[in-house]
Amino acid sequence: MFELQDAFARKFQYLRLSVTDVCNFKCTYCLPDGYRPDGRKSFLTLDEIRRLTRAFAAMGTSKVRITGGEPSLRKDFTDIIETVAATPGIRKVAMTTNGYRMAKQVADWRRAGLTAINVSVDSLDPRMFHQITGQNRFHEVMAGIDAAFDAGFEQVKVNAVLMRGLNDGDLDRFLAWIRDNPIQLRFIELMQTGDMDELFNRHHVRGALIKEQLLKSGWQQKLRAHNDGPAEVFWHPDYAGEVGLIMPYAKDFCASCNRLRVSSLGKLHLCLFGDHGVDLRDLLAEEGQQAALQQRLREALADKKATHFLHQGHTGMTPHLPPSAAEHSPLDCFYRTALA
Ligand code: SAM
Ligand code: SF4
Repeated sequence: MFELQDAFARKFQYLRLSVTDVCNFKCTYCLPDGYRPDGRKSFLTLDEIRRLTRAFAAMGTSKVRITGGEPSLRKDFTDIIETVAATPGIRKVAMTTNGYRMAKQVADWRRAGLTAINVSVDSLDPRMFHQITGQNRFHEVMAGIDAAFDAGFEQVKVNAVLMRGLNDGDLDRFLAWIRDNPIQLRFIELMQTGDMDELFNRHHVRGALIKEQLLKSGWQQKLRAHNDGPAEVFWHPDYAGEVGLIMPYAKDFCASCNRLRVSSLGKLHLCLFGDHGVDLRDLLAEEGQQAALQQRLREALADKKATHFLHQGHTGMTPHLPPSAAEHSPLDCFYRTALA
């Protein structure tokens, strides 16, 4: 029975599950100083992930995206995929990755039950890739994408955050790349989070501008099914690939919200933009709590707001709490559970 519905008739059949905060990249817009370990944190265990997924699936979740941090840094990552994929009711298991381990492991992930993969590639110029991510690993990541096709994935989605003065000039190169490759390029509009005012003001590119350019060059917007997520997708008769635009500042972004998020510490987040989260962890520690867990999810959903209120200047941040005082820094509320 489908129970994950809110007061605005939005159905949440899609769960984004963060399994770690740790990352080995230093993307300028995400972790410019790299991941700083906090000894007190212990991320969801495999058993906790199993119980959590089971409860969501019993209420109607059919798709789980595993994300992070960098999810593939977990030693038990393949077991996590297997566990989620084996949960009755889960039909799709996706992941979002920086691609670092893909070339070596993507075939194992597929055998374990992974059905879809999103890789972040912010530039097709190896030097710019290095500059944005802090890692000189462009060629490894591209080899990972080839390995995904070799392993049998029919499509790979590639996430890129276009930033003015950095990689915005790459648009044509990206489009040339997908002429013959069945890749869905997903341009994510840079989102303002944490202390990144300066970076945001200097580099933010409106998604609407990219949309204009696409429409001018013959790309056409696909009709959306009502349960599609917030991405606007474009196709072109001369291209094997597609382009998706994720524009969180667009007016109707929230109306198409179809996802719930659980952080690596077991907090349910109802919105990408920084609510404080509902703790689920006390109900994950042992078997026998599924009914209580489902009841907590029901109560939390009854509270989900219509929109993120970004237009009223709410940035989804918790500026008054230093990270040490809050269980989650603004980064936790946002990136770790976040995007695809
Ligand atoms: N580490 C993995 C990766 O980079 O794909 C998974 C987690 S990462 C947080 C998921 C996605 O969020 C990436 O595609 C990244 O580009 C995007 N992202 C992170 N911070 C962002 C921001 N401030 N604005 C827009 N996208 C952001
Ligand atoms: Fe790491 Fe992904 Fe953030 Fe880049 S975007 S720093 S790869 S978590």
